[in-house]
Amino acid sequence: MPQGSADELAPPDRLLLGPGPCNIHPQIVRALTAPLLGYLDADFIDILDDISEMLRQLYGTKDGLAIAVSGSGMAGMEAGLSNLLEPGDTIVIGVNGFFAERMVDIASRQGATPATVQAEWGHLVDPSDVAKELAKHRKVKALAVVHAETSTGVLQPLEDLAQLARSHDALFLVDAVTSLGGSPLVFDQTGIDFCYSAGQKCIGTPPGVAPIAVSPKALRAIESRNVKPHSWYFDISLLRQYWQGATRVYHHTPPNVLLYSLREALRLLLKEGLEERWERHRRHGHALRVGLEALGLRLVVPEEHCIHHLTLVEVPDGVDDAKVRGALRREYNIEIGGGLGKFRGKVWRIGLMGYSSSPASLLFLLSALETLLPRFGFEVSPGAGVAAAGRSLVWASQ
Ligand SMILES: *Cc1c(COP(=O)(O)O)cnc(C)c1O
Repeated sequence: MPQGSADELAPPDRLLLGPGPCNIHPQIVRALTAPLLGYLDADFIDILDDISEMLRQLYGTKDGLAIAVSGSGMAGMEAGLSNLLEPGDTIVIGVNGFFAERMVDIASRQGATPATVQAEWGHLVDPSDVAKELAKHRKVKALAVVHAETSTGVLQPLEDLAQLARSHDALFLVDAVTSLGGSPLVFDQTGIDFCYSAGQKCIGTPPGVAPIAVSPKALRAIESRNVKPHSWYFDISLLRQYWQGATRVYHHTPPNVLLYSLREALRLLLKEGLEERWERHRRHGHALRVGLEALGLRLVVPEEHCIHHLTLVEVPDGVDDAKVRGALRREYNIEIGGGLGKFRGKVWRIGLMGYSSSPASLLFLLSALETLLPRFGFEVSPGAGVAAAGRSLVWASQ
């Protein structure tokens, strides 16, 4: 392409109903255009302090460190594993999906030894299997698990696992990338030591910021390491001097506008109320499930173990996964997700997260599916999905 000949940037205004990123609130869009400040400007430091304070409220921690690392959710994962683990450490990891498998890879890159507790995709990690694995080792540094496994749609209960970690004096590390701000999670009460998330799922920012929370116990473990973490960029001892130190010390230039958007997202989130927000995500997710089932589609995860705001539905036999998603995108301007890893081509992943969690988006998606599916060989009774979801919303509001 000759220089200067490109058209003006104009991505379509898509309805984002996949596994993230999600659509963002107009007030958060405005935050992205606010004036830049230097990273040691007192006014910018005030913004960092606001973020820390609101993140503590979102995570539900009084004494934990809560900051945002620069990068997507994977930055949070890498920050956790590289700060908690030293070469030779053993970490027990519950593996029931794509993201837990990544934890295993990253843990071994730290020179640590991951011991995995496997469960089938679409199922929970069984605490009794975790107990057996923990009992095999003389010393376990950490126990790690994914709270909301976005590849399978399963929400893992945390309480029993936290208890097990405590009784083996292991740090409890939780991936809350998809759950934080959408599903109930209370850091202190559960007894989590390290938790990471990402802005672009239920929190409602663009991708690029990863909020983390670190317990006092995990901070002590980090401060008393024998060797420095392999990662300099995510070294929490250094990041802490910038976010919290009496005199702030430059570490790296933070992504100002993304942090502005995080501050605004957290403000809106806390104004809505955490419990109200969890309930909104549950209500809309439930209505979507009811609507999909009314169309004769099969859900992958039973209601009691599902992530309400991320629904996995089987691609019906004989229906071409990519063609349906392509038609949704071209004709209805809607994105939904395909399957990851061993679920590739077999499932659709539908996210109703953050600003995308609304009656309008779920009813629109159901009506689009009702119109499209018969064309791709799957008969539905027109209107059935929207009607069933609508009834579910009416009952929920009574
Ligand atoms: C999305 C996701 C990640 C990775 O986040 P990125 O923002 O894509 O780096 C990690 N864990 C889970 C459970 C996720 O859903």
